[in-house]
Amino acid sequence: SHTVEILSVGTELLLGNIANTDAQMLSQGLSALGLNVYWHTVVGDNPQRAKEAVELARKRADIIITTGGLGPTCDDLTKNVLAEAFGKKLVYDEESLERIKAYGKATGRPLTENNFQQALVPEGCTVLTNNWGSAPGCAFEADGVHVIMLPGPPSECTPMFRYRVVPYLHALSEGVIASHTLKLFGIGESAMEAQLRDQMNAMANPTLAPYAKEGECELRVTAKAPTMEEAQALLLPKVEELKQHFGALVYGVDVPSLEFVVENLLREKGLTIGTAESCTGGLMAKRLTDVSGASQVFKGGIVSYTNEVKHNVLGVPQELLDQYGAVSAPVAQAMAEGARRALGCDIALSSTGVAGPDKDDWDNEVGTMFVAIATPEGTHVRALHLGNRPVRARLRTQTAHHAFDLA
Ligand code: ATP
Ligand code: MG
Repeated sequence: SHTVEILSVGTELLLGNIANTDAQMLSQGLSALGLNVYWHTVVGDNPQRAKEAVELARKRADIIITTGGLGPTCDDLTKNVLAEAFGKKLVYDEESLERIKAYGKATGRPLTENNFQQALVPEGCTVLTNNWGSAPGCAFEADGVHVIMLPGPPSECTPMFRYRVVPYLHALSEGVIASHTLKLFGIGESAMEAQLRDQMNAMANPTLAPYAKEGECELRVTAKAPTMEEAQALLLPKVEELKQHFGALVYGVDVPSLEFVVENLLREKGLTIGTAESCTGGLMAKRLTDVSGASQVFKGGIVSYTNEVKHNVLGVPQELLDQYGAVSAPVAQAMAEGARRALGCDIALSSTGVAGPDKDDWDNEVGTMFVAIATPEGTHVRALHLGNRPVRARLRTQTAHHAFDLA
């Protein structure tokens, strides 16, 4: 199968002025297509070093995708270097010339000779029309290597990849590549991988790829076949088998997030949800409202950071706060039940814990968290000991994950 090298051109990347988000975006998209991205290379706007990078890439990869350096300024050298390396002349592309003139008119920018140089492309290439900027991309094959050049600005590179490169790559590959992604919560990546290692090594089609993502895990199953039906026929039994194997740890297949699954379930059942948050500071409410269509199920949230608000707004009894402290199972329970009353929702989630950096006044370690869910049938509390990891944000994310998992 194909091996890909992403060659990012730009001195500002080397200087650390910008992060290489184009390479990240491309890698995500290419691996979703089942292509093997083996190298990311970054080189500055320097013809000699760029040429050396191309010479190395063509030896080890059969698809080279470049980003950046297609613009009108003299530091934009990508096309010259690639054309020269592969022995191609640069010629004017008529359609691109027309587009550049039209683009100049539309944006009111005066055009110079440099602008027209953007319409120069390697002879015989496939021009990748740029509807999102002025510099066209291009693709050609030479000496068994496919070269694809894309503009640097992410607002151009991203749609160019999606609408120009993906179809081009599809045309290259015999057959189709399809994948399904299982989403798991409650198991670490290494534990998941350990359970799968033997079959992963033995599998060729479909293949399995595990990923860790902020406390969650993903398992992507990818198959290649002449038709989509055949690819699905390879995939679906494997997906079923993995669902059986991991049981309740799998919260969905091809779903974006835990909160999405929670809201969908609630919508199906005609139930509403609300939140009372202390240590997560509104993160649960934010995530619930990130899902489109949230207003049908999410009633509202209360960030009850102080004991005063826990007592006055949520009705958490003062005795509980005095007796157990705010970071305790009884308070988590009272918060969730109070939120159900205060917000008039069917189901309420709560969180309370020590996000750090220091222990609380009750000597609870950083990472001590309680999440609770109150339902018409009763309330459940889950105690979490997420460890003394110093990052508040991570503890909060984890805590919110657990609350959604309870739901
Ligand atoms: P332009 O026509 O805008 O000059 P270009 O193809 O010549 O496009 P560059 O000049 O290399 O691209 O980069 C233009 C801008 O795009 C950079 O200043 C930077 O903001 C962004 N950019 C370039 N490369 C990347 C990258 N790999 N990841 C993220 N952003 C990038
Ligand atoms: Mg440029």
